[in-house]
Amino acid sequence: MSIETGYSKPLPHLTATNRPFWEGARQHILRVQCCGDCGEHIFFPRPFCPNCYSSNLQWVDMSGRGKVYSFTIVHRPTVRGFSQDAPYIYAVVELDEGPRMVTNIVGCPIDEVRVEMPVIADFEDITPEIALVKFRRSVPAIHG
Ligand SMILES: [Zn+2]
Repeated sequence: MSIETGYSKPLPHLTATNRPFWEGARQHILRVQCCGDCGEHIFFPRPFCPNCYSSNLQWVDMSGRGKVYSFTIVHRPTVRGFSQDAPYIYAVVELDEGPRMVTNIVGCPIDEVRVEMPVIADFEDITPEIALVKFRRSVPAIHG
């Protein structure tokens, strides 16, 4: 456990490649790479586009909106530090812009989460440098 923060779960290791993602998260902005050659949005951060192998990547802000692509309910975490959170929702969220990310759904009872449920990014401040990206249920925009 970190003496400074009291936070006992693993923290991300910042690298030259992923630092813009974490700096965005710290400002509560969800940011992913976009390929300047084929237009693919890319997550997780990497030095080359997985679609066309271009290294011409830029960081772009996302809407933060997406939907649950898949999920499971964790009752017995295998990593110490998560046990006080159980049961919790471990999910893959598909962003409106395309990329998928592994995350948690927060603020939603475990028996109400559904595949295709609309969600929006939510940021949990952990340390002065690190905020984690999670998602909460969103109400779809009402049109007309
Ligand atoms: Zn590409």
